[in-house]
Amino acid sequence: MARPQYEPWVREILRCPVGGHELVDVVDEDGQPALQCAQDCDGPGRRRRFPVVDGIPVLLADDATVVAVGDED
Ligand SMILES: [Zn+2]
Repeated sequence: MARPQYEPWVREILRCPVGGHELVDVVDEDGQPALQCAQDCDGPGRRRRFPVVDGIPVLLADDATVVAVGDED
């Protein structure tokens, strides 16, 4: 699992620009790090995922992808 390049305090202030959600570290289908909404963002079970480019989170709605999440209870 790749580790993010930024500090924990940075993570804590990062928020989804669409819904203000907290973000969690994920790895996308290509094995690249990304940040994903911790809560549903685009309807039930759908969350935005923001790319992390060269260690810098790109928190732009236009660059986000919407992913479907399964039951994670
Ligand atoms: Zn969101």
